[in-house]
Amino acid sequence: MTQEATEEKQTKPLLPFIKVPDNYPDEEAYIWGSKCSDCGSQFLGERLACGKCGGQTFEEVRFSDEGEVYVFSVVHQGVEEPFVGAIVDLKDGPSVRATISGLDPAKVDAGYRDWFGTKVKMYIEKVATDREGNDVIAAKFKVV
Ligand SMILES: [Zn+2]
Repeated sequence: MTQEATEEKQTKPLLPFIKVPDNYPDEEAYIWGSKCSDCGSQFLGERLACGKCGGQTFEEVRFSDEGEVYVFSVVHQGVEEPFVGAIVDLKDGPSVRATISGLDPAKVDAGYRDWFGTKVKMYIEKVATDREGNDVIAAKFKVV
């Protein structure tokens, strides 16, 4: 099997609220969303109607890559190593469900209350390759 030189691989986000800029990876991917023009509520990704006021006009916003752990749990899932899954409150933004790296799941299990409010920062990681050979990226968070 030969690959055409002109066939360019793309980088695709695993979830739709991750924006991959045209000049990626020179510019890092980021979390984006919609801000209601009427009441200012913010949502991840695209939104057709505001859940708070019913407004239908939105402004596209880029959210901070910093946040705080709101709730989390250690996820034990079949063959995969246990990992820490959390809901992160983005600074000046909505919350996002994500994996937290840099936390030892065993330690989290042992003393979980201490981790609420932990400051975290987003990073982008390649998590898979799709059938066309494109990189699939996801947003994860690490403790700062
Ligand atoms: Zn609204």
